[in-house]
Amino acid sequence: MPKPGDAEFGDTEPGNPSPYIGRFAPSPTGPLHAGSLVAALASYLDARAAHGQWLLRIEDIDPPREIPGASDLILTQLDAHGLHWDGTACYQSQRLEYYLSALKNLAAQNLLFACTCTRERVRANAGQYDGSCRAHLIQAKDISIAADNATPPNNAAAHTSTSTRIRTDAHSLIAFDDLIKGPQRVDLHTAGGDFIVRRRDQLFAYQLAVAVDDAEQNISHVLRGGDLLDSTPRQIFLINLLDSPATPPRYGHIPMMVNQDDQKLSKQHHAPSLELGAPGENLYHALEWLNQSPPQALLGANPDEVLDWAINHWDRGQVTSVERKPYDLDKPS
Ligand code: GLU
Ligand code: ZN
Repeated sequence: MPKPGDAEFGDTEPGNPSPYIGRFAPSPTGPLHAGSLVAALASYLDARAAHGQWLLRIEDIDPPREIPGASDLILTQLDAHGLHWDGTACYQSQRLEYYLSALKNLAAQNLLFACTCTRERVRANAGQYDGSCRAHLIQAKDISIAADNATPPNNAAAHTSTSTRIRTDAHSLIAFDDLIKGPQRVDLHTAGGDFIVRRRDQLFAYQLAVAVDDAEQNISHVLRGGDLLDSTPRQIFLINLLDSPATPPRYGHIPMMVNQDDQKLSKQHHAPSLELGAPGENLYHALEWLNQSPPQALLGANPDEVLDWAINHWDRGQVTSVERKPYDLDKPS
């Protein structure tokens, strides 16, 4: 029997395939750009080629970073590109009780502690957390939702205005077989160490929320941007602790899309918003970038035609395992 952390853990048994459930999980920090389109498209095609479901999750648990209207714009952009999700979109802001109960569960396992260390202090230690606050254990009964999930409650419990970290000294060796990058092996204890599951401002950390949701929604496959490869061991670690029986998804990380100056495409680097004028062409270029070699004849086709071809010809093995891959921004996004 594979155990959590084994490389083959999470593999679908050949004779007993678990249903394929994929997802795309954008943060509403801005509209989709060419880099988010390739991530959406890769996960969509992988799901549809496997006759699986494809869910949409809006990761709106970081209000300070959100741009008003971005969630709706993302839905519109996906729709315009024919990337239709199954069921209704799920919003992390509506799921805070799940994250809270996950924290209580972890606290009951004596794994959470209140950390007062500054980011500078951790950075000065080459990003490795030294475990210095471990004695400040957090009890499940002391964990509550802050009034608006951003302000600490008035009757601040001992851990408010401190961040919450999880101990990584046990079961910290995580191995997984990336669908694109191949076998990965990380010891969390030495790769950063105890990590934050609830931030100093009492917002739930991305790592916690995404692990809870992937487990709770029975996500079987996650294809996403290569910038998240480092996060994956933390998410597997959390799912192994929270989910019983633990069934982390299979993960595949596509290259990180960079501009001509080798900067990751992002809002900070002024990646242009995905235009709605020529969605078929945007998809065509995204397919080229994913090395799917779409036939020239598809240039000018509508999104549904492009996607039909792409589902039938999807070959995950063609997506290169390089870390960063440039994109020519002069092309239509
Ligand atoms: N919300 C994350 C982002 O926009 C992606 C999370 C994920 O796919 O796990 O980068
Ligand atoms: Zn600390």
